[in-house]
Amino acid sequence: MLRIAIQKSGRLHDDSIGLLKDAGIGFSNGYGRLRTESYNFPLEIFFLRDDDIPEYVADGVADIGIVGENIVLEKGKRVETVSRLGFGKCRLSIAVPKNIDYLPGKTLEGSRIATSYPNILSKYLKEKGIQATLHDISGSVEIAPSIGLADAICDLVSSGSTLMMNGLKEVETILKSEAILIAAPQLNAAKQGILEQLNFRFDALLRAKSHKYILMNAPNQNIPQIIELLPGMRSPTVLPLAESGWSSIHTVVSESEFWSIIEQLKAAGAEGILVTSIEKMIL
Ligand code: ATP
Ligand code: ZN
Repeated sequence: MLRIAIQKSGRLHDDSIGLLKDAGIGFSNGYGRLRTESYNFPLEIFFLRDDDIPEYVADGVADIGIVGENIVLEKGKRVETVSRLGFGKCRLSIAVPKNIDYLPGKTLEGSRIATSYPNILSKYLKEKGIQATLHDISGSVEIAPSIGLADAICDLVSSGSTLMMNGLKEVETILKSEAILIAAPQLNAAKQGILEQLNFRFDALLRAKSHKYILMNAPNQNIPQIIELLPGMRSPTVLPLAESGWSSIHTVVSESEFWSIIEQLKAAGAEGILVTSIEKMIL
């Protein structure tokens, strides 16, 4: 049995549950439960505050966990990163009141900065050679400047709308973060085996999310040119259409190169291009 710690409630909760369920792990997660066991996979699930997850994993109370990389770096516990999970994306940034004329390296010198990330921030300031006083506060960091507690803040940002609502502007990005899968440094062979099985499923889901399945029709004489454009898993599938001289071409493309490939395919004579999501992708 492998024990995983995930966030009890908050920004990472739904996606963590979704990832486990999409990986075919069945469990009941009744409201307010602190632990549950899967009925079809050797996994026990603990629901915890995100801040506590690195410590539980480092101490071996849980074997693995899903938590923001920001928390893992801040806590500095001895855990291993198994994979990046593609959700919970945000950045840890420094922000100042928006009317300030910000000068990198100068404005923060001698300032007071409010943050819930004192370790990451002090390391960053040290690297930059900036002296500042840190106020370690655990929540609502963004109001610190307006109540006179600090001159600047260092906090998580995703869209930036919270900063804007509080009259702040983002001036430096310290770190880009997302949810990661972490593991205790030394798992026994049985647990390691379960982790590999689980990670294999996560990989298939993550890869599927970043790829699209595309189908298109083209006149046969254009096929060589079209095939040139397609990366695919091996080579594309080419099937004859009922109309002679035409074929249907199927392949997989990654999300990042998707639009540029579609444009080139059209230019190369592809028609009726269909794009669908992939549920799971195993290499
Ligand atoms: P807990 O009750 O578990 O301590 P919390 O309030 O500390 O929860 P959340 O706000 O739910 O934490 O955020 C959890 C994680 O979500 C963060 O550590 C971060 O990795 C990620 N995240 C993504 N976008 C944002 C954002 N805009 N603000 C804060 N966290 C974000
Ligand atoms: Zn927290």
